[in-house]
Amino acid sequence: MLEHDIVIIGGGLAGCRAALEALRRDPGLNLALVAKTHPIRSHSVAAQGGIAAALKNVDEQDSWEAHAFDTVKGSDYLADQDAVEILTQEAPQVIIDLEHLGVLFSRLPDGRIAQRAFGGHSHNRTCYAADKTGHAILHELVNNLKRFGVKLYSEWYVLQLILEENQAKGVVMLELATGRLEVVRAKAVMLATGGYGRIYNSTSNDFASTGDGMAMVARAGLPLQDMEFVQFHPTGLYPVGVLISEAVRGEGAYLINNEGERFMATYAPSRMELAPRDITSRAIVTEVRAGRGIGGKDYVYLDLRHLGAETIHSRVPFCWEEAHRHLGIDAVVEPIPVRPTVHYCMGGIPVTVEGQVLRDPETVVRGLFAAGETACVSVHGANRLGSNSLLECIVYGRRAGAALVEAVKGQSLPKLDEGSLLKQATERITSLMERPGDSRIDAVRRQFQDCMTTHCGVYRTEALLQEGIRQLQQIRQRYDQRLRLDDQSKVWNTELIEALELDNLITVGSLILHSALERRESRGSHAREDYPQRDDQKFLCHTLAAFREGSPHISYRPVVITRFTPQERKY
Ligand SMILES: Cc1cc2nc3c(=O)[nH]c(=O)nc-3n(C[C@H](O)[C@H](O)[C@H](O)COP(=O)(O)OP(=O)(O)OC[C@H]3O[C@@H](n4cnc5c(N)ncnc54)[C@H](O)[C@@H]3O)c2cc1C
Repeated sequence: MLEHDIVIIGGGLAGCRAALEALRRDPGLNLALVAKTHPIRSHSVAAQGGIAAALKNVDEQDSWEAHAFDTVKGSDYLADQDAVEILTQEAPQVIIDLEHLGVLFSRLPDGRIAQRAFGGHSHNRTCYAADKTGHAILHELVNNLKRFGVKLYSEWYVLQLILEENQAKGVVMLELATGRLEVVRAKAVMLATGGYGRIYNSTSNDFASTGDGMAMVARAGLPLQDMEFVQFHPTGLYPVGVLISEAVRGEGAYLINNEGERFMATYAPSRMELAPRDITSRAIVTEVRAGRGIGGKDYVYLDLRHLGAETIHSRVPFCWEEAHRHLGIDAVVEPIPVRPTVHYCMGGIPVTVEGQVLRDPETVVRGLFAAGETACVSVHGANRLGSNSLLECIVYGRRAGAALVEAVKGQSLPKLDEGSLLKQATERITSLMERPGDSRIDAVRRQFQDCMTTHCGVYRTEALLQEGIRQLQQIRQRYDQRLRLDDQSKVWNTELIEALELDNLITVGSLILHSALERRESRGSHAREDYPQRDDQKFLCHTLAAFREGSPHISYRPVVITRFTPQERKY
């Protein structure tokens, strides 16, 4: 059995920032970071447009209060305002700290960090490193972690969270290179496992974004919060689905329909292309439904041509490359075809502002922490503003790192029955490998992704969601009874890992559908055509969805409101 004071699952921005904070505070800690990819291949590395903070380098009128207001309005008033205040107040100092760690931000002519416009933000406050911001930050975090001699388990897959007597005691994990199973016992565990974009058939996320942390928590009987809020990014490259960053619109690009109109004038006249993502995604879907997609098809154009070659190649070079590499388009002279693609999950594992996981609104789970996209603290509520997610990873990763140090002080390692844990894990794997089925993973996953995309997309209705739930039960049965794995080897068995990930996707997808069915209103990214209005009387509250005896069970908890009274959200 392996032993560590602290084990952090996830090598993206949230996990790395937490690990760095813990080791800065106590360099003697025996801290392990586990990741199923190499940390530098975490999805954070793909973040493009930037990270928000009211540094006032470009816009002296900006303030943390303005940033907080934009975030709360963007969230359609579902964000917890105490958490948003912490996020926006701590933002400038965490950016300066990143700079001191060596992050190469883009600069103004006078040498200060440059800041650009972003959707839903009323001031130019998004700091960036061209359109490769995640890359710039993650590399420096990982470099700095090495200085502290972190124990890294790279390419290890965590299968199970060990939770007994309301305490996290460790994890069970599998080494990809050998198939070896190990139990790790620890005084505290942190989940920083990222999002679940692979639940849908078009996503900007990487292949590893399979909601593993959320599924482990749900399987342990704990709730997930606000899972119905799925962010569709308006500008996924058509038909591939990869992201064309909002930075492109921040730099001034237009969205145009088949009639050559900048159609955002109809939907958000004051913000145009820089309206929040939920509104812009719905606008595109509405244009397409009205037959105004390009050539009558299901996409519109993102037009950069008026920006000129110099701006395009210096400010958003990666977006130019993406369009060129995938479609052979030169965005200097041709518009880019785009449509909404699944991008981000506002919901996740409910946590306190110190990153402690909640069992219910009043009770925390001892020794269990979460931060980043897998967590829901909740700063994004029903809709996240661009460039607030990297910020959340850094601010709340740092806070969780500090809280982890306190949590393990004076604690001894928990007792664990290693033999029975290994036996259970081995049985789970054997039963998958030996199932006499006829359904290949790819077919089941495709059926599942199509089901979620059709029944729980940009627009939802009672009938669609009910049908989605019915189909998902069949898909679950197909997985449990008929899945067939061909690869019986122990070395780099990616088929086995995909099977375990698919199990997680289905588990999380089921809670998304049930949460969406029960929220009979429209708020932020959750657009119910049968309940088009926001209903603060009934639904100004967070959804908690948990499995009780195998079936999803929904309850609610109040939203924290400090300074901004809910109003109608208009742009
Ligand atoms: C293309 C793209 C562009 C984006 N651009 C921006 C932007 O400009 N600004 C912004 O604010 N946000 C942006 N976002 C969102 C933001 O990048 C993410 O929300 C954020 O980086 C998530 O970081 P994380 O640390 O929570 O998780 P991730 O970076 O996703 O890392 C998850 C980690 O967990 C590990 N892991 C997962 N499951 C397991 C398991 N079972 N066992 C072991 N390890 C596991 C993975 O290996 C990985 O190391 C973008 C997202 C995408 C997809």
